[in-house]
Amino acid sequence: MGKSIDTVCIHGKDVRRFVDNTGSISFPIYQTAAYAHPAVGESTGFDYTRLQNPTREEVERIVADLEDGIDALAFSSGMAAITTLFELFKPGDHIIVTDDLYGGTIRLLDHVNKKNGLQITYVDTSDLEQITSNIKENTVAIYIETPTNPMMKVTDIEKVAKEAHEKDIILIVDNTFLSPYYQKPLLLGADVVIHSGTKYLSGHNDTIAGFLVTSREDLSEKLRFLIKTTGAGLSPFDSWLLLRGIKTLALRMDKHQANAIEIANFLQEHKKVEQVYYIGLPKHPSYDIIKKQCTGFGGMISFTVDSEETAKNVLQKVKLIQFAESLGGVESLITYPIYQTHADVPIEKRLAQGIDERLLRISVGIENAKDLIADLAQALEG
Ligand SMILES: *Cc1c(COP(=O)(O)O)cnc(C)c1O
Repeated sequence: MGKSIDTVCIHGKDVRRFVDNTGSISFPIYQTAAYAHPAVGESTGFDYTRLQNPTREEVERIVADLEDGIDALAFSSGMAAITTLFELFKPGDHIIVTDDLYGGTIRLLDHVNKKNGLQITYVDTSDLEQITSNIKENTVAIYIETPTNPMMKVTDIEKVAKEAHEKDIILIVDNTFLSPYYQKPLLLGADVVIHSGTKYLSGHNDTIAGFLVTSREDLSEKLRFLIKTTGAGLSPFDSWLLLRGIKTLALRMDKHQANAIEIANFLQEHKKVEQVYYIGLPKHPSYDIIKKQCTGFGGMISFTVDSEETAKNVLQKVKLIQFAESLGGVESLITYPIYQTHADVPIEKRLAQGIDERLLRISVGIENAKDLIADLAQALEG
């Protein structure tokens, strides 16, 4: 029988004893650039750290196991992972992308990939019809985030995968928001999963990392060639921080979610809050899909307040929750998408998505829920 995910977080699918001859319980940090060869024509399996490093290989093993992939590659950031992934494509290729996307990915697509000849069409991928009607002869990939950032729209991964595979199109899913603890896109038919390892996987707001995970041998081979060629791999020390962070992923996700449910309920009842976007609320328009494809709801909440003034007031007055970008760490953070995460997105596009001056986003941490609610209550006052 397969191991449960909380066990896999700590050991991977196969428990490894004696990684070296000391019996070290914690996986060592192999802080080396190069490796000595035993003899001419022989290698220990490691030659140069840009190509591979044992500590990086270990975190890749754990992340591949968590996502039920055949291979995972660890990058120096989420954006390094996404940038490298797009090297799979060539000028003239067409890609359909979720319109309500992580701001940094939009910047990459619009300012780097388009210049390099990729054709990008943004659609609301939560509406399957918008995907199918935009597939062209030269469409090579569909790229989705679900739930989206910051509007929490949900795409049916299984349905999109089916549609994509009928036309030999690859499906890429950025799974940063839910982590493999709550969603496993490869098991639903996706070909590549992306993570900003900076977020829930590392979990402590203390390092930058990224992952690509795949279920396909051919893609694994191409991506391995790209990571060693572009030099975008994760450093040994950061690989170790990720290994350490992932060990508590299950515990943290349970707590993030329990807190988020309480906070979403508090916000829903608050007179200055107009709308709460959280995938754990039964009134979410895609609740049926969420129940089908996710095992939980995570800790990300967006909400609109009654005025721009209230929004700015909240950001000024929070004491426990910190006004900062990023997400997925033990500390609760609140951000202002219109001016922060989505500042580079053209204003018409931001407003069309509902990203206006009244929208705030919270990454709910693992502090005590009562303390977090008290902080929000005082910040929403006056
Ligand atoms: C943060 C983030 C990224 C980019 O990752 P970095 O580690 O910051 O480079 C990509 N996608 C999503 C959904 C993110 O939240």
